Amino acid sequence: PSTVHFDACAWAERSLPTQPPGTVSPAHTDLATYRAHGGYQLAAALVNGAMDAEAVLVALEASGLRGLGGAGFAAGRKWRIVRAQPAPRMLAVNIDEGEPGTFKDRSYLERDPHRFLEGLLVAAQVVGTEAIYIYLRDEYHGCRALLHGALAQLQADPPCALPQIELRRGAGAYICGEESAMIESLEGRRGEPRMRPPYIAQRGLFGRPTLEHNFETLYWVRDIVEKGAQWFAGFGRHGRKGLRSFSVSGRVRQPGVKLAPAGITLQELVDEYCGGMPDGHRLYAYLPGGASGGILPAHLNQIPLDFDTLQPYGCFIGSAAVIVLSQHDRARDAALDVMRFFAHESCGQCTPCRVGTAKAAALMQAPQWDADALGDLAQVMSDASICGLGQAAPNPIRCIYEYFPHEVGAAPGALLPKGPPS
Ligand code: SF4
Repeated sequence: PSTVHFDACAWAERSLPTQPPGTVSPAHTDLATYRAHGGYQLAAALVNGAMDAEAVLVALEASGLRGLGGAGFAAGRKWRIVRAQPAPRMLAVNIDEGEPGTFKDRSYLERDPHRFLEGLLVAAQVVGTEAIYIYLRDEYHGCRALLHGALAQLQADPPCALPQIELRRGAGAYICGEESAMIESLEGRRGEPRMRPPYIAQRGLFGRPTLEHNFETLYWVRDIVEKGAQWFAGFGRHGRKGLRSFSVSGRVRQPGVKLAPAGITLQELVDEYCGGMPDGHRLYAYLPGGASGGILPAHLNQIPLDFDTLQPYGCFIGSAAVIVLSQHDRARDAALDVMRFFAHESCGQCTPCRVGTAKAAALMQAPQWDADALGDLAQVMSDASICGLGQAAPNPIRCIYEYFPHEVGAAPGALLPKGPPS
């Protein structure tokens, strides 16, 4: 069969149930059902003083819950840091979910919105935040209708005193998934990442100390507190702890969101959770972390997938968007696709990223890649970009030279040359 052009976004879309704009998923858990199963008792106990905030912090820390938007910062530690800052404090929630191949937040939100909202209320109470801003991906029409409805239900019949909660729409910019760009956007400005320090835990939304979280991190809070830290930490394989929600797409029989132990390998994930690969396909390569996380070859299919485990291979797990390629795909097509994506989504604030991604995408169309030019660009982008987009943009180039040199006319074992000294 001829080579198929890689399109991560199209694959990710095919992995989702279709939903017309504005419709609400009929399968979601409504407020009455959620409450009938003990919902909002934890939030009410905290707000009414029947439960101590310290107990929640201890449970979060013991569970090992980390930021599941991609950064992986320890959630309990983050709560303590912001809690120690002077009031008033803010809470900002990122449901922009723009990483290609990632659709886990949408999947959970469509099914159980109140579990997320309870995590939100718990965080607000424990950290002592004055107002909550939810930043929702604008393309998620159904989620917006659903979340509006769930918030209205909650406000009409609150289980406890509620803080101010604002639901804001994103505007289709990938960079607004970066926490400081999201805050700029929430404040009504162009979504451009801020220089750090100051960190947003110290000076974030409207200049106030801000707790920023991804949707899924808050989604697990109720279960961790009620079932115990060990319930969450007890999952895991190959020395890792916890649960991860993998958004799997590409050449697998059953794509979708797979809740699996942290540290599971790609081969285990495909075989045990995705029904294997389709007939006529065998594993050739995979992207372990969406567009930003690099590309790995088939022979590295036994690496535990988790935070911290992929760095030695020049990759990272990010939001756990796993895209599987077979012998009918080319890794260089995937690399070009993600570089074009970065060029399109660069906010343009700094030159290495704005010019470097566009120039790299042009160079990567040649049958034989120019290693010297791409090496220079990769080095400058890594060293001099303000935020993670530009710093991670060279990952696919490096991975192609490291693992797939035959695809771009490089000698086996050739490494990408280093650019000028930084
Ligand atoms: Fe914007 Fe790219 Fe610079 Fe990040 S690295 S601030 S996305 S131009």
